[in-house]
Amino acid sequence: MSNNDTIAAISTALSNSGISIIRVSGDDAITSIDKIYKGKKKLVDVESHTINYGHIIYNQEIIDEVFVSVFREPNSFTRENVVEINCHGGVLVTRRILEIIIRNGIRIAEPGEFTKRAFLNGRIDLSQAESVMDIIESSNEYALNASINQLNGSVSREIVSLREKIIYEIAYIESALDDPEHYDLNGYNDRLTNVVKEVINRVDKLIKSSNNGILLKNGINTVIVGKPNAGKSSLLNILAKKDKAIVTDIPGTTRDIIEEQVSINGIVLNIIDTAGIRETDNVVEKIGVDKSISAIEEADFIIYVVDSSIELDNNDYSIIEKIKNKKHVCLLNKSDLTNVVSEDDIRNHINSKVISISAKEGKGINDLENEIKDLFFNGEIEDNNEVVITNIRHKDLLCKCDESLKLVLDSLSQDMPEDFYSIDLMDAYKYLGLIIGQEIEDDLVEEIFSKFCMGK
Ligand code: GDP
Repeated sequence: MSNNDTIAAISTALSNSGISIIRVSGDDAITSIDKIYKGKKKLVDVESHTINYGHIIYNQEIIDEVFVSVFREPNSFTRENVVEINCHGGVLVTRRILEIIIRNGIRIAEPGEFTKRAFLNGRIDLSQAESVMDIIESSNEYALNASINQLNGSVSREIVSLREKIIYEIAYIESALDDPEHYDLNGYNDRLTNVVKEVINRVDKLIKSSNNGILLKNGINTVIVGKPNAGKSSLLNILAKKDKAIVTDIPGTTRDIIEEQVSINGIVLNIIDTAGIRETDNVVEKIGVDKSISAIEEADFIIYVVDSSIELDNNDYSIIEKIKNKKHVCLLNKSDLTNVVSEDDIRNHINSKVISISAKEGKGINDLENEIKDLFFNGEIEDNNEVVITNIRHKDLLCKCDESLKLVLDSLSQDMPEDFYSIDLMDAYKYLGLIIGQEIEDDLVEEIFSKFCMGK
């Protein structure tokens, strides 16, 4: 399949709406749409970056009244000729126009293919291409901001700058080994140690940002635990603002694990409401309890709900045992009733942030929301200008780069020969390159020629 064959797809959501956009990209994009478009001028004759009024005509029949945008290569999203047809947003008419385009010999684009072409044609790098996909999939505003930031090249710029530092040193070592008369490696170890430490710091900062970044993008896996009747389902209903879980006052009704995505000030929680943890002989309920114990182990965050109107009991103590090493918050629920459990009663057993709430009256929920923000993001997410890694592939590569750089530091501290650490430096360089989709082969040669071979 050639890269330049012409592809088409409906670019807007396929639902009945005001307008839809069909995007066409490739060598024949303009000429082939000309065959089905009738306007004041033919599209081949209009200027690039213009929008043109006309009709889509097929078998002498007017199919729709449209605006057609024309972008001539290389100044388009894909760097190819691109035509975008703004048609009426009915599902049928949009599909019909696409069908007509396909009948004219244009291929349907694969998912993500426009973005792939933008990458292959060098308009955006790999991390930017990934951020386009992220923007499309963003489920909340923080993730969206991070993705837009990445599309603007924030991650790429940092990666490129780190790679420049590394390749400079590799090139220096290669040149010095090649031409010891002109390049002195005396005292070089100290200089390289400093450079590598600085690069490690910056890589570590990116890795650290990914912990929040990935959580922001995918949501925080949250488990609500508490003994039966503590108010877990009621809390979930309030957070989800709808009646999904069944609320009753017979202990043990929440037997299934219910998953719900809720958004709290833009932070997404994937909530798993588990069966109340307690010793039980009931087989069905037992399955739920087993599930909730493994859910606790896998969760990022636990919301522990205590019925503050009755004394703590063994059910509470066994829950406390299971959550004490996890990130959690403790809610003293039923604050509208006479409370017999105090904050101190909890703190005698576990070092928790304790918040008093009434799931019934909806009190204290704001405090819970603020606590979640503090616990996970320390206000860090407010700063949208920070370079934030939101992609697991990027994080993995940064970790590998980090390991390679630490090997360099080891070799330096053991006074190993230079070629020893240049291998690890090269690995670090390669891993960073994979983030932005760069090949390494030619870079070193170029660097050596441009920086170190001036006089030769
Ligand atoms: P779960 O078993 O932990 O899921 O508990 P539920 O959410 O089903 O609640 C058990 C009972 O406690 C229900 O009758 C709720 O209406 C009641 N309940 C839940 N939260 C509160 C609260 O804040 N105040 C009062 N007074 N009752 C509550």
